[in-house]
Amino acid sequence: MGEDTIAAIATAPGEAGIGIVRISGDKSIDIAESIFKGKTEEKLSKVDERKLVYGHIIDPKDQSKIDEVLTVYMKGPFTYTKEDIVEINCHGGIIPVRRILELVLEKGARMAEAGEFTKRAFLNGRIDLAQAEAVMDLISAKTDTSFDVSLNQLEGSLSKEVKNIRDVILEIIAHIEASIDFPEDDIENVAYDKIEQKGKKVLTKIDELLKTSSTGKILREGLKTVILGKPNVGKSSLLNSILRENRAIVTDVPGTTRDIIEEYVNVNGIPLKIIDTAGIRETDDVVEKIGVNKAKNLLNESDLAIVIFDGSRDLTDEDKEIMKLIKDRKAIILINKTDLEEKINKREIEKYLPNKEIIATSILKGSGLDILEDTLKEMFFSGDIKIKDDVIVSNVRHKELLNKAKQNIKEALESLNMGMPIDCIEVDIKDCWSNLGEINGDTVSEDIIDKIFEDFCIGK
Ligand code: GDP
Repeated sequence: MGEDTIAAIATAPGEAGIGIVRISGDKSIDIAESIFKGKTEEKLSKVDERKLVYGHIIDPKDQSKIDEVLTVYMKGPFTYTKEDIVEINCHGGIIPVRRILELVLEKGARMAEAGEFTKRAFLNGRIDLAQAEAVMDLISAKTDTSFDVSLNQLEGSLSKEVKNIRDVILEIIAHIEASIDFPEDDIENVAYDKIEQKGKKVLTKIDELLKTSSTGKILREGLKTVILGKPNVGKSSLLNSILRENRAIVTDVPGTTRDIIEEYVNVNGIPLKIIDTAGIRETDDVVEKIGVNKAKNLLNESDLAIVIFDGSRDLTDEDKEIMKLIKDRKAIILINKTDLEEKINKREIEKYLPNKEIIATSILKGSGLDILEDTLKEMFFSGDIKIKDDVIVSNVRHKELLNKAKQNIKEALESLNMGMPIDCIEVDIKDCWSNLGEINGDTVSEDIIDKIFEDFCIGK
C-alpha cells in the first residue's frame, strides 16, 4: 500500500497473562522474521498463514533472547487493516511488550498513532467511519446495553440506515437534474411532487434516528445523576444501597484537579453516572457545604436529580430551597424514612412540586427502591427499546450531522412550498446528502477524520 509499517502494543499496560505487539504494513513480515526465531527454524512466511508459531524473540545485535512468544502472521487483505499483520503474543507485563516493541521499531516500523490501525481499516475500505467509531465505543462501553448498541453499529446497522436515506436523496437529485436538463418536457411539475413526497420521507427517517439519540447519549455517557437533600435524609444510604444492589463500574478520571471518581452504576441496563459522589460521601450536608450555587451548577451538569426528603420530619426552609432549585428540572423525589412515623406525605410535596415523580421509600428497609428503578427506566427510555434490533444514534457527531441534514431537508421543503426555482432547492438537497455522508465517511474531510481517530487509544 506504500504506507509506513506501523507497530504498537495492543494490550492494556500492566501485569497480565499475555501482551500483544501488533505490526501492520508491507514490512511486517520482514521485521518479524528478523527478530523471531521459531522452534523449527522454519521462516514465519513459510508457515501456514494465521497459524500461531512458537518461538523466541531474539535481539539480532547479540542473539540474546528477549522473550518466549507465539507469533502469528496474517496476510492482507483479509485482516483488520487489510494490510499484512503480524501479532507477537508475549508475556504480559510492561517489560516484555516494551522490549519487543523497541526492537520492532529499530527494525523499521513506525510507532502507530492513536487509532491508526482502525484508521487504516477505514482508509483501506474495510469499514466505514461510523463503524470505525463503533470500535472505540465498544472498547469504552460501560454496560452490556451500550456494548450491544456499539456492536450493532460496528456491524453496520447505522451505516445501512444512513445509506438508505441517502439513496432516497439521490433519487430526489435525479428528478431535479432531469427537470433541469429537459425543461421543455414539463417534467418540472412532476419533479416537484416527487421531491415533496420523497423529501418528507427523508425528514421522517432522519427524525426517527434523532429520536433515539437521547437514549443513545445516556447509554454511551451514562445518565448523569446528582443526589440532593439536606443533611441526614439518607443520601449516602441511597448511594450505598444502589452501589450494593447494582454492578458498579468505577473509572478514574485522570487530569481532574480533585481526585474525582466517576462511579457508573448499572441500574436495569441504565448506566447511572453519579456526579460528585465523593462530595456526598465526605459530607453530610451537600447543599450547605457546597452552597446553593454549586448545587445549581451540579444540577446544570446533570440529566437527573434524585431528591430526598425526610418523611419523618416536617419540611424545613432548606427543603424548600432545594425544591425551588429542582422545580424545572428532571427529578425524582423520594420521601424517605417511611418506616418511621409520617410527618409529610406525597400531597404535601405535590403542593410545591406538581408533576414530579414522587416515591415513598425506606432506604433503611429497602422498600420503594424497585419503584425508583422502574421510574428511572420509564423516564429515560421511551418505549421498550430492543437494542439488538434497533438502530440507536449514540454518537454526538452523528447527532449533529443528522440535525444539520434535517435542517437542510426542511429548508428544501419550505423552498418548494414557496415555489422557489428548482436549482435553489437542489443546493439544500445536496447539502443534506453530504451531511449524511459525513456520518459514514463518504464525504468527510481529512481534518475530521484525523480528529476522530485522535481520541482512540494507541494500539487499536
Ligand atoms: P445523608 O446525610 O443524607 O447522606 O444521610 P445518611 O444516608 O447518612 O442517613 C442519615 C441517617 O438516617 C442514618 O443514620 C441512616 O441510617 C438513616 N436512614 C437513612 N434512610 C433511612 C430510612 O429509610 N429509615 C430510617 N429510619 N432511617 C434511615
